[in-house]
Amino acid sequence: MNQLVYIFVAQVLIALMLSAILFLCWLKVDRKPHALSWALAFAVITVSYGLNIARDLMPHPVYWAIVNALSLTSISLAFGGFWQRAGRKPRPGLLIGAIIVVETLVIWFRSVYEHIGLTMAFVPYFSMVAMFASAAVLLTQGRRLKAAEWGMVIVVTVFGVAQGAAATVALQQGPAGDLEIREVYNQINFLTMPAAFAGLGLFAVFIIASDLADAMRELALTDSLTGLTNRRGFWDAAERARSEAARTGEPLCIALADIDRFKRVNDTHGHPVGDEVLAAMAQRLSSGLRASDLLARVGGEEFAFLLPRTKLSDAVAICERQLECVTASPIEVSGLELPITCSFGVSAVDPADSMRSAIATMDEALYRAKTNGRNRVEASAAPQ
Ligand code: GH3
Ligand code: MG
Ligand code: MG
Repeated sequence: MNQLVYIFVAQVLIALMLSAILFLCWLKVDRKPHALSWALAFAVITVSYGLNIARDLMPHPVYWAIVNALSLTSISLAFGGFWQRAGRKPRPGLLIGAIIVVETLVIWFRSVYEHIGLTMAFVPYFSMVAMFASAAVLLTQGRRLKAAEWGMVIVVTVFGVAQGAAATVALQQGPAGDLEIREVYNQINFLTMPAAFAGLGLFAVFIIASDLADAMRELALTDSLTGLTNRRGFWDAAERARSEAARTGEPLCIALADIDRFKRVNDTHGHPVGDEVLAAMAQRLSSGLRASDLLARVGGEEFAFLLPRTKLSDAVAICERQLECVTASPIEVSGLELPITCSFGVSAVDPADSMRSAIATMDEALYRAKTNGRNRVEASAAPQ
């Protein structure tokens, strides 16, 4: 067998495997649409490489028309996957339009106005643009990139450069074609394609795995009843804020709101109504907070506030305002109107000291709020 056929068979097997893995990722991990697009991209390229082995069984113009259409579809699906994952509005019409335009140009320059250089350059140039656009989609998500995303940015950029180089070399052939230049074009492709496919596929799987890990981490730090951060998430964030305050010298406060006589709500109306009250309280307590503030449900009917860059007197004022918001009108749940109050304990955090002592101070302030008649805010500065 011709050695080239071995290379094609190897590429078919790589693409098939990656398609199968990505398809399983789609099936088993939340059925994310981008995972399906990536799986389909590799499935289409598998068919395209499969045809490569059987290329002599059909007329060459037909073979090239099919292979070009498959390559363009595969590249578009790969790019579409990045687009979908970034949560952007799908534009399938635009991609299909681009595929039709490029395919028509290729057929035009092959059959009507014969120009071999152009015929061979369109698809790799399209691929280059799609790869650079994929990198741009990844880089403009408005947040810090994950390791898997940086890996993918590098792979698509290098692949895009290789495709651009291949296209430019192909173009040098001019209208009549040139066997020596075509050989260079082939060498660039044979050298870069297998690594590019393996890299694209592996980093796609890595991205799906990282997204899953992040979703799990998020879930582990979220309270399912209220959607707020849970106890663990709150104390992790508090510890980070304490280090930040130690570094910047800015003030930091924590506060705890505990619903008054909540046991009575459960005893009178039942646990499910109690749960609804907790969800409604989460809403009220979170209204009007700054983006840098954090509200968490740290116990059954206990809500904690993390207030960075806030001095004690301001923290007290914030808690007074949140208490007003809670008591301004009864909480409406299941056709009931329940007047709810809560008590607040506030404490400044001494960044040089442990969080534990700030918590003790806050608990002590809350205890005072309870014993002084509830429905109030009490504060103490952290012991210096
Ligand atoms: P105090 O004013 O002293 O805080 O009185 P309290 O009744 O709120 O305090 P206590 O600590 O005695 O009771 C808290 C109650 O919160 C006990 C429990 O029935 C209720 N609770 C804790 N977690 C949940 C929950 O997830 N759902 C519901 N519905 N109730 C909860
Ligand atoms: Mg309590
Ligand atoms: Mg309570």
